[in-house]
Amino acid sequence: MTLNTGVLYIVATPIGNLSDITDRAKDILNFVGLIAAEDTRHTRRLLQHLDIQTKAISLHDHNERQKAATLVEQLQKGDSIALVSDAGTPLISDPGFFLVREVRAAGIKVVPIPGACAMVAALSASGLATDRFIFEGFLPSKSGARCKQLEQLANEPRTLVFYESTHRIEDCIVDMSKIFGKQRQATIARELTKTFETIHSDTLDNLIQWMQSDSDQKRGEFVVIVAGNPNSLTTDEKESDRIVDLLATKLPLAQATALAADITGERKKALYQRALLRKQ
Ligand code: SAM
Repeated sequence: MTLNTGVLYIVATPIGNLSDITDRAKDILNFVGLIAAEDTRHTRRLLQHLDIQTKAISLHDHNERQKAATLVEQLQKGDSIALVSDAGTPLISDPGFFLVREVRAAGIKVVPIPGACAMVAALSASGLATDRFIFEGFLPSKSGARCKQLEQLANEPRTLVFYESTHRIEDCIVDMSKIFGKQRQATIARELTKTFETIHSDTLDNLIQWMQSDSDQKRGEFVVIVAGNPNSLTTDEKESDRIVDLLATKLPLAQATALAADITGERKKALYQRALLRKQ
């Protein structure tokens, strides 16, 4: 592996299971002169586990602007730096945006070292359409502001992905049910890659009842994935779906969607995923 000097590496770290780190990430964390970490105590535990002795300094939302200039200078001198957050991919609902912008503006190379990301892990196992999605991160903590934001998303046809914490998960699902409708399909991905990993799909209304009947389901870290609004499809998409449904009365679904894709010019994968959701 070629390791360059004067590079800012954006290194993904595990979201639970400590084995979810790549060999390349470990090499980079070993090689760089400095690790800029969201929380040094948290990162030291990971470094200890990996037997890596690299120095770590803190870089979080409150000091990022102040520290960016010094880090840019160090990179310009030829030092390499790794940016990590507490879990998963830095900058994804985590600090680092300001630093990356400054580093790139200074003409310095920024290299991503991909790995775990709760959003991608949850989406990949959600059973909801993955051909088009939007990531909304954390919703506002107050119900009024949260509902307002949800209202703006009510007609969104793409799959919606949110992060949520243990304190608000139930209120959040209740608000989603109010705004998106009780029957909208959703998946709750809890404690991914950890001992109590749970990935549960149902209508929003049933998910509320499920959580209320088992308080353990409100513990931990969550990704909430909500199906897009099926009624917001364009006229062309609705027509494509009608063709798929017609063909599917005579053919297996994979064949029906392949043929419908040829007829309509729409992507087969999108047609197939929507057809599966209609079946649900
Ligand atoms: N940068 C991280 C990533 O790549 O996913 C996300 C950081 S954000 C501050 C933390 C939020 O991500 C949590 O509140 C939760 O919504 C989600 N999350 C992180 N780890 C998770 C896990 N193991 N299971 C489910 N959700 C998780």
